[in-house]
Amino acid sequence: MSYEDLLNSAFSVSEKELIIRAYKFAEEKHKDQKRFSGEPYFNHLFGTAKILSEINSSAETIVAGLLHDTIEDVGVTKEDLEKEFGKDIAFIVEGVTKLGKLRYRGADRHNESLRKFFVAMSQDIRVLMVKLADRLHNMRTLFHVSKEKQLRIARETLEIYAPIAYRLGIRKINRELEDLAFPYVYPEEYKKTIEYVKEKLGKSEHDDLEDFLNSIKKALAKNDIKFEKTEYRIKGLYSLYKKLAKKSGGEVYDLAAIRIIVGTVEDCYRTLGVVHSLWKPLPGSIDDYISHPKPNGYQSLQTTVFTGSGFLVEIQIRTNDMHKEAEFGIASHLSYKETGGKGKTKGFLWLSSLLPKDGTHASFSNDIPNWIKELATYHDNHAGSTDVTEDIKGDFFSHRIFLFTPKGDVVDLPSNSTPIDFAYSIHSDVGNSCVGAKINGKMASLDSILLNGDIVDILTKKKSGPNTKWLEFVKTTAAKKHIRVKTKSKRVKQQNS
Ligand code: MN
Repeated sequence: MSYEDLLNSAFSVSEKELIIRAYKFAEEKHKDQKRFSGEPYFNHLFGTAKILSEINSSAETIVAGLLHDTIEDVGVTKEDLEKEFGKDIAFIVEGVTKLGKLRYRGADRHNESLRKFFVAMSQDIRVLMVKLADRLHNMRTLFHVSKEKQLRIARETLEIYAPIAYRLGIRKINRELEDLAFPYVYPEEYKKTIEYVKEKLGKSEHDDLEDFLNSIKKALAKNDIKFEKTEYRIKGLYSLYKKLAKKSGGEVYDLAAIRIIVGTVEDCYRTLGVVHSLWKPLPGSIDDYISHPKPNGYQSLQTTVFTGSGFLVEIQIRTNDMHKEAEFGIASHLSYKETGGKGKTKGFLWLSSLLPKDGTHASFSNDIPNWIKELATYHDNHAGSTDVTEDIKGDFFSHRIFLFTPKGDVVDLPSNSTPIDFAYSIHSDVGNSCVGAKINGKMASLDSILLNGDIVDILTKKKSGPNTKWLEFVKTTAAKKHIRVKTKSKRVKQQNS
């Protein structure tokens, strides 16, 4: 363990110095703190930063990884961090600290909302990256904590963190999070999946794969195709389990996958040709995600072939750039080189990388959750603006607050909204029969200003109705509209009677 392990050769001298300074700062501040396992707490901070450096994060993000628990655990203030490491890093660490306070409530129907909340709360993609790395390191060392905590954290990982990593295209982290959480959350299914893999692949899996990969390499050399890298792996157990569950009793053939990274797009197609001339593909298994990238931008040629020794292997063929995109997703856009290390990644430019790459939203499938569609639409509507980033930051997030119902549903509203706005956003009937509200368990007046993270409980009474005075303080157009309609019909009735 050394700061050398965190330094990317592309970093400038001052960036390297910053990392070394943060390393020493964190080591010193946390020196009296131990983890559950008894090892120094600093190991966790180093582990988090190491994960960030492995996915090509910027120097600032790595520094924030080292410092991410200083506010929460050892009483360093945001101001201290600002003085020592600058505003940006202090902002990221504060964001990570806030996110850490959110708790997964364990009801499936709220997960989508909570994911949205997480992303919106983080405000800066780097906050989310540090949080993901923090969670991955905690998952790697989860066996040290109590059974109860294990289950809670593993569930939260599977329902919230892993899907966010997937959505951001950081497959490397997504896969590992899933496979680490799987045995804690679904122990029986985990055992069955392992047995399935053993039965299908047998003991000789690695030798067979190795042999097969060598034959591919020979064939490529014979055809003068230069490859940069080849590798094989057994597919993620959790994604296999999900596939098996979907097929309800059917077979999943491609338990193993081989990757071939070549220099150019042309070589990708030539490689596919060579492979198919030697090994028969499974009908219907050929996918050209180079001509037709997946909505998240994933590009690759994929085929599943019979190896000749009794099993099937999926083969993924792509260029180095496509590979980086596939493994690190959004993180690869934030790397040092692409941003010039000048913090251009600050703000919300990253949102655009959640959008389909072909520029049309017609390709939105059901696979893409609503919150991404909303962000994408917002992005589109403001495309002509001089600074989209600032706009999105200003309008979409700073001017919006995220609130919980007592059951844990997330409601988002413009800032300065009141319990009446909240009531109408749930349902017009709830708004129309609203007589009172509790905010975080305490009675509050109906014109109270709601704050981010408040839990709002609306009290209703049948046969009560909205008051025209509400129009003086409600913020949302929906609430105004309903109040006007309802109070008008009441007046008309009164006039008629
Ligand atoms: Mn941590």
